[in-house]
Amino acid sequence: MSYYDRLIFELSKSGRRGAYVPCGTGKAPVPFGNGSGIWRKQAPALPEVSEPDVVRHYTRLSQLNFGVDSGFYPLGSCTMKYNPKICDALPSLFADLHPLQDEETVAGARELLSRTGRFLSAVTGMKHFTFSPCAGAHGELTGLMIMRRFHEMRGDTARTRILVPDSAHGTNPASAALCGLEPVTVPSGPDGLVDPEAVKPLLGPDIAGIMLTNPNTLGLFEKRIGEIASLVHGCGGLLYYDGANLNPLVGVLRPGDMGFDILHVNLHKTFATPHGGGGPGSGPVGVCAALKPALDAVDGKVSAFHGNFGVVVRAYAYLLMLGREHVKELGPFSTLSANYIKESLRDKYKLPIDSVCKHEFVFDGLLDDGGREGVPGATTLDVAKRLLDYGFHAPTIYFPLLFHQSMMIEPTETESLETLDEFIAVMRRIAEEAASDPALLKSAPHHTPVSRPDETEAARHPVLKYSPDK
Ligand SMILES: *Cc1c(COP(=O)(O)O)cnc(C)c1O
Repeated sequence: MSYYDRLIFELSKSGRRGAYVPCGTGKAPVPFGNGSGIWRKQAPALPEVSEPDVVRHYTRLSQLNFGVDSGFYPLGSCTMKYNPKICDALPSLFADLHPLQDEETVAGARELLSRTGRFLSAVTGMKHFTFSPCAGAHGELTGLMIMRRFHEMRGDTARTRILVPDSAHGTNPASAALCGLEPVTVPSGPDGLVDPEAVKPLLGPDIAGIMLTNPNTLGLFEKRIGEIASLVHGCGGLLYYDGANLNPLVGVLRPGDMGFDILHVNLHKTFATPHGGGGPGSGPVGVCAALKPALDAVDGKVSAFHGNFGVVVRAYAYLLMLGREHVKELGPFSTLSANYIKESLRDKYKLPIDSVCKHEFVFDGLLDDGGREGVPGATTLDVAKRLLDYGFHAPTIYFPLLFHQSMMIEPTETESLETLDEFIAVMRRIAEEAASDPALLKSAPHHTPVSRPDETEAARHPVLKYSPDK
């Protein structure tokens, strides 16, 4: 073990200091224990190290994991998009605000919310927004509460079931169940799309509506959305748009024009805050004009105040940066990037559904030299692990569940052509390695601090605490 692999506790030397604070005695400047009984009696057992040791410790920690600032991160369904640093800097302008301070002192923050709402209205075609929900799934729950409330307000209490396609993100049926609606699965057709003929027999007076994401989780555009909307509206139901996949539509098509009544937008996917890592999110919910009373009845019930305001500031900054002209390029660029990668790799990886994709697409494992499915001894997991050796994060793997070797790739609109080309070259090289030397893939990654942990064990029993005797 090298010096730099040691924990900061192991570097500790009694009496070593990072900075000297003049306090006369050379002891800790703040007294421990003031007799009130709530202060600690003894100084905490913190490591005693020099300033360079501390700086190196945190810098090294920041490099142990892969992040969107370390390299290309094509994690499909999550949109790990580069976040312009100015978007990160601006929320600190509001850091001193307190949600309980006088309303007249927060006029700027309120103005920012209302402007962002107007931007989102322009992009989605929805009339009114709430910023309370703190994530996409949270927005789904809020939106479904609005849907239920809308039916209840009309005295229509029999609508307790909701249609959800089998390709939907897992949060859709989960949010429905949490909201007290029974999810009813709509099977996808062989083209990966929802067929209105499959929707028809499921409709009835017990159906509250349908949840759809368009493009769907395979990155495919639901072409027959107009027919689906007429069918669902015709039976008295509403359409909920899971806006996690709004990215390719921005500037091109508004969900409101496809017939959707309620939606959420994942500000932390579509508008610059990278998703993942458990950081704060924002899932504002928008509704069409007719649903305003139902929105008002539910608003303020799912979180305090206006949710994660800092994420709204980032989204506002991103939209302002792009401006009316360039925001129109957001969808086309993310779509072009995804199709470029797909077409450049389709002779090496199996493309289960051959179609123009939107901002993301799915491969189903490797092809061998002869273009046949599968390479003996090399799986999607092996490709994902090997990518780390080349400085790329893996795509989303084994999701969606429709295929056995899914690799879901989403490049986003913020990566350069050079980055995409490099990724393509590495993916091709890995496919060749899989054919010539599968053992190389099986033991990858070779250059990361941890190679192949037991994933179940690591998730169930993570060791997150330093214990000196280990
Ligand atoms: C990410 C995602 C969600 C959930 O959003 P969270 O912010 O993670 O709760 C829902 N649907 C789809 C299609 C998604 O990609």
